[in-house]
Amino acid sequence: MQASIDRLQMQLKEEIAGAKDLNELDNIRVRYLGKKGEITLLIRNMGRLSPEERPLFGRRLNELKAVAETMLEERKKELYSELSVKRWEKERVDITLPGRPFNLGRKHPITMVLEEIEEIFTSMGFKIAEGPEVELDYYNFEALNMPKDHPARDMQDSFYINPGILLRTHTSPVEVRTMEAQAPELPVRIISPGKVYRRDDDITHSPMFHQVEGLVVDKGISLADLKGTLLMFAREMFGKDREIRLRPSFFPFTEPSAEVDISCIACNGKGCRICGETGWLEILGSGMSHPRVLEISGYNPEEVSGYAFGMGVERIAMLKYGIDDIRLFYTNDLRMLSRY
Ligand SMILES: [Zn+2]
Repeated sequence: MQASIDRLQMQLKEEIAGAKDLNELDNIRVRYLGKKGEITLLIRNMGRLSPEERPLFGRRLNELKAVAETMLEERKKELYSELSVKRWEKERVDITLPGRPFNLGRKHPITMVLEEIEEIFTSMGFKIAEGPEVELDYYNFEALNMPKDHPARDMQDSFYINPGILLRTHTSPVEVRTMEAQAPELPVRIISPGKVYRRDDDITHSPMFHQVEGLVVDKGISLADLKGTLLMFAREMFGKDREIRLRPSFFPFTEPSAEVDISCIACNGKGCRICGETGWLEILGSGMSHPRVLEISGYNPEEVSGYAFGMGVERIAMLKYGIDDIRLFYTNDLRMLSRY
């Protein structure tokens, strides 16, 4: 009897170890410990044993029952944890998947050209000065020698907030504001970059565009200084072979005034479709500061002189990149914007 109990325990141990899932394990439990299970029946049939045998086997059977329950419970825990590992494997999310690429973007071609212009002039000792885009008529026109009814105002027809305040038509007001704040201290050497507004809208004009103006005021400033500075700029911006020429022109705030051309960047001056067969491309306007402008701003034109120039950043960018429609800068077409 003792031997058969030992065998039963061995057999039970093997079966429990071999159970592949909870269902199989439960079947084993029923087979041994259920109402008609082997161990249950042995316990129930103890009455048939002799009174001498009964206590010994009774204890042995109770032990077997306890061991069986423990083994079943332990295997059950094992199967549970195997099951959750399997489920985790099946359901886990692969967090190592590469993320979606994020487009960092880049600088707008106007910003790039603007920064390049700023870099060229600051390397020559110019400071950057900024001013308001909503400007007083006084700074935009009057202090620049354009009194009311001056015909030059028509060329810069603009957006008025009221008769005395408008969206600035050029960044020249910053020059006046700078001189006003600094006079009579010398030298003045600034560029003023920024947005300006005019009522123009075609393939070479936009109602909003960018300008960089420059101003130098000091003792003994001459046209030669202006020409030398602009030649340096042209070569830094458009290549070391550029030549420039000054053509007489008119601006109310400079005297004498000149349009400045560079030798054509496409044909190098020979004449082509881009330069209209002239060999030259206009890039900016300039001149010697009008004595009246110096005087209004607090400088004595008898003692000091100055020069000023102004360029459209879009125009420079169009020449540099060979773009023939200014509106392309503002349509936010990424195919166009990412090309430069
Ligand atoms: Zn040309």
